[in-house]
Amino acid sequence: MKKRVALFPGSFDPFTKGHEDIVLRGLELFDEIIVAIGYNTQKSVRYFEIELMTNLINKTFEKYPNIRVTQFAELTAEFARKNGASFLLRGLRNTTDFEYENSIAQINRELYQELESVFLITSPKFAWISSSIIREVHRYKGDVSKFLPYKL
Ligand code: ADP
Repeated sequence: MKKRVALFPGSFDPFTKGHEDIVLRGLELFDEIIVAIGYNTQKSVRYFEIELMTNLINKTFEKYPNIRVTQFAELTAEFARKNGASFLLRGLRNTTDFEYENSIAQINRELYQELESVFLITSPKFAWISSSIIREVHRYKGDVSKFLPYKL
């Protein structure tokens, strides 16, 4: 049977326990998950360096041979196609996420019919965690360690 490969794309600036939860739950559905850090053009200046974040996510999943961590700077649908991913994994926290994800999913479907977007509803305990809030807390020297699955 064909391997079910999912791409989990995001800015991951930083990668949080909410993201980790989506990936681990995704493993119940897919044979392999590619966590891909995108260079988001609208948020082009990162707070956490991409190399640092790549290493930290790699460390987080070092015991999982079926989770791969990589970077990309092209259309998500195109990157998925090149990497043999037929599924796009995304997390949903609220209606704001839904509005955004809905339009992305529609455009991706137009661009690449074979790519199916799959959404997991956030676990309640992580629903309020956002990368932007963590950046704010970290900027002012607050302790963010309990929101992250690795040590900074
Ligand atoms: P992007 O800039 O592409 O939105 P993010 O790194 O902010 O990238 O998020 C990547 C994905 O993870 C998105 O689908 C987002 O909705 C989801 N996500 C972010 N935070 C959480 C969370 N706390 N729980 C579940 N999903 C989340």
